Amino acid sequence: MTTVEVPHGSRSVVLRVAAVIAETTDTRSVVFEVPDELRERFAYQPGQFLTLRIPSELTGSVARCYSLASSPFTDDLPKVTVKRTQGGYGSNWLCDNISAGDELEVLPPSGVFTPRDLDTDLLLFAAGSGITPVISILKSALAQGSGKIVLVYANRDAGSVIFADELRELVGKFPQRLSVIHWLEPLLGLPTADMLARLVSPYTAYEAFMCGPKPFMDLVHTALASLDVPRSRTHAEIFNSLAGDPFADHAPAEVSEEEAADAATVEVELDGQVHELSWPRKQTLVDIMLDKGLDVPYSCQEGECGSCACTVLEGKVEMENSEILDPEDIENGYILGCQARPVTDHLKIQF
Ligand SMILES: Cc1cc2nc3c(=O)[nH]c(=O)nc-3n(C[C@H](O)[C@H](O)[C@H](O)COP(=O)(O)OP(=O)(O)OC[C@H]3O[C@@H](n4cnc5c(N)ncnc54)[C@H](O)[C@@H]3O)c2cc1C
Repeated sequence: MTTVEVPHGSRSVVLRVAAVIAETTDTRSVVFEVPDELRERFAYQPGQFLTLRIPSELTGSVARCYSLASSPFTDDLPKVTVKRTQGGYGSNWLCDNISAGDELEVLPPSGVFTPRDLDTDLLLFAAGSGITPVISILKSALAQGSGKIVLVYANRDAGSVIFADELRELVGKFPQRLSVIHWLEPLLGLPTADMLARLVSPYTAYEAFMCGPKPFMDLVHTALASLDVPRSRTHAEIFNSLAGDPFADHAPAEVSEEEAADAATVEVELDGQVHELSWPRKQTLVDIMLDKGLDVPYSCQEGECGSCACTVLEGKVEMENSEILDPEDIENGYILGCQARPVTDHLKIQF
């Protein structure tokens, strides 16, 4: 039995596993119990993820993000769904070791891959385990919204389709609003951008959300671009593994007098409130906001999860790792707060 004596950091909590569900031969869902006192902290938006701390004899622990496949509107308990990565440590550890009654250390829900309005028409793309945040959005929009939803769901074969029965039931329940197009490799071959563009050309006015392996996402981006779907209506969630320890508590950095004198200034808007901060140039935006005790959204601090995405309204930053952002996003002022350091002397940033 896996138990956790004390949380590793002050942001995380220990949750008990209510159930483990075998979804396919290589995929397990983990359902968590959430005690009443944690309900508020574990309230989530469809499309968000949890970060799990997975014990390791080699490194003490690894941190891995898993999207919530449950819907906050239709499911009582939060559920993540883990697909085994060949040779991967964390996913296989979870699939092999976790059962009902075990405990895991978890960071609260995070992430920005979530529709602003559940009433809009949605064009959803998923491949393999990329279905997890997508089904949360889909179920939530069906339950709370009024728009139409088209899901294009690509898989290696019929046996790999996660949530096949649940999707079939939802199509039966919402035949006027939901269409699911299964793209199975043995029947249709690998999708191409042209094929995808032809398939979704009637839905170019919809808001697009995509999640899956990089080659699949590249195809979807190309297909949508060829149909002139603006980038502002295209949202992508990228599944990467974390290298660092987002569970460790934030330690304020020492700032020398020289660094303080040379610091930039920033007006940062968070939850409708504007804060004026000094921004020493070697620190990231997330660092300076945490130093001031602000409740900045963040998780991995490696530029991998996108939780701290925000917009530069004035000024310029440089970023160490911005690979999960598209060049068009960056051009539009989108940045990752955990990677951003100031270039100009004064900036305005909005979360
Ligand atoms: C926002 C987000 C959401 C995600 N949602 C999902 C989801 O819903 N479902 C899903 O399946 N995946 C999801 N992922 C991906 C997931 O976080 C992992 O990247 C994936 O499960 C692969 O992790 P892995 O450890 O098995 O594989 P890898 O990352 O490939 O593991 C190999 C790594 O582990 C190290 N390693 C090997 N053995 C050990 C050891 N004993 N101790 C310590 N380290 C070791 C190796 O050095 C190597 O770096 C998501 C990722 C992100 C960022």
